[in-house]
Amino acid sequence: MVRVTKTPKRASKTTTKSAAKTTRKRVSKTTAKSAAKTTRKRVRKTTTKSATKTTRKRVSKTTTKRAGKKTARKTIRQLQHAREVLRRLHELYPEAECELRAENPFQLLVATILSAQTTDKAVNRVVPALFARYPGPAELAAAEPAEVEPLISRIGLFRNKAKSIVGSARALVERFGGEVPSGREELESLPGVGRKTASVVMSTAFALPALAVDTHVGRLSRLLGLSREQDPAKVEKDLTSVLDESDWGFASHALIWHGRRVCSARNPRCHECALGSICPSMRP
Ligand code: SF4
Repeated sequence: MVRVTKTPKRASKTTTKSAAKTTRKRVSKTTAKSAAKTTRKRVRKTTTKSATKTTRKRVSKTTTKRAGKKTARKTIRQLQHAREVLRRLHELYPEAECELRAENPFQLLVATILSAQTTDKAVNRVVPALFARYPGPAELAAAEPAEVEPLISRIGLFRNKAKSIVGSARALVERFGGEVPSGREELESLPGVGRKTASVVMSTAFALPALAVDTHVGRLSRLLGLSREQDPAKVEKDLTSVLDESDWGFASHALIWHGRRVCSARNPRCHECALGSICPSMRP
């Protein structure tokens, strides 16, 4: 007869319970440890992130400050340079002015339209006969471009220019009571009139602040370190940002004079240039 003892079962039950408890404890310990680890990691990550952010902010602030200081210093240098260029130009060409022959705003407008891609000298040769035949907007407005062409045929693009000056004269009669307007918008609404022509008329005929940028002004501005731009509108912006409004007209005329007399595109005479000591493009 086999006796069945119940004790081992109990023992096994107890052992299982205790094992489960231990496992639970271990699991809970492990979970707690891992949770703590994760939290630590998260905290570390957040701290690092925030520190990095703060550092970045500080660096960017410092960089901005430094950049701001640099820009300010650069701007001051540019201002001083531009003023010195202007001072020397005043000494060299105190009488600098527009070299086109014109006795009134209408004649100046016509002469300036004719001067596109042509020298002022060439324009000055043809305008006396033109103005003798068409002294004002009314007379020119009544003409046909074909009648005007022979009078200006010695200058480049004369057919297009004949159309432009007749068209402008008609617009003056029809829209502006036969008077040349002084506003940029109105001037630029006339046929053949762009920003440069409008600036010449505004500054020369009406003494308004405007700075005309032609090829000489653009070229000399780059040579003298006043601008790096090729686009005339951007050169104009660079110059007007460092010069007083009252100097805009003079600066344009004086740079043109210097370009014609000393600093020609083909043969700049650096050795006798009064701007040589401050010109970054001076050739030995
Ligand atoms: S130094 Fe030479 S390049 Fe400079 S403005 Fe005078 S002529 Fe022109």
